[in-house]
Amino acid sequence: MKKNELHILHLYPRDMNIYGDNGNVLAIEHRARKHGLQPIVRKYNQGDRFPRQVDIVIGGGGQDSGQLKVLDDLHRIASKLHKLADSGTPILFVCGLYQLAGHEFVTQGQKNMKGIDLLDIKTKAGDQRLTGNVVATSREFGQLVGYENHSGQTTLGDYAAPLATVIKGVGNNIHDKHEGARQQNIIGTYLHGSFLPKNPKVTDWLIATAIQRKNPDFKLAAIDDALVEQARLITMKRPR
Ligand code: GLN
Repeated sequence: MKKNELHILHLYPRDMNIYGDNGNVLAIEHRARKHGLQPIVRKYNQGDRFPRQVDIVIGGGGQDSGQLKVLDDLHRIASKLHKLADSGTPILFVCGLYQLAGHEFVTQGQKNMKGIDLLDIKTKAGDQRLTGNVVATSREFGQLVGYENHSGQTTLGDYAAPLATVIKGVGNNIHDKHEGARQQNIIGTYLHGSFLPKNPKVTDWLIATAIQRKNPDFKLAAIDDALVEQARLITMKRPR
């Protein structure tokens, strides 16, 4: 186990990659290199062998049909994901996999997709699609920006905390202004965009949390984010 290697497990890139969610993996690779690390990406699709070394898990969103395609396999590897989560591995789930990481997702066609209970959340499709730009404030990460497009409305149970409070857009559901979820070192969010290139504080948190488990002395390098900040400001001013 090399101290500066960062093993990234990318779940279901074939079926769960909507609105550029694969960009989240590119962002981690890019920033990891700037922090002096050596990122190693392992793409995992249904039926693949689950890798032995995993430092970060990333999963994206997809249509209901894509979620159905990965569901059985997700249950097949659920115990491995639970083990990783219980040992403190940082995990990011966006939209479709965020929903399936919870207890259930009931679709508009009343199909009940049972989730893998990693997050204490439940999702039920509403009768409108929630689509548009989002700005939300998080205590841990400051302002988060992204783009949402989902029918599912998610409510949090007692063990999950909201990731952020929505300022523009909808987030988890039309009632409580919550966006996303935090539990253990898992982040769930409805934000695409891609999410991580637009929200480097989250990227750095995932990287630091992963590496400090192997190397407690690891410190993030200072990265000049002036361009990212400009892009974020422009994004925040965009209409819904
Ligand atoms: N199919 C899910 C929904 O519509 C997730 C969509 C997504 O991942 N963007 O709610």
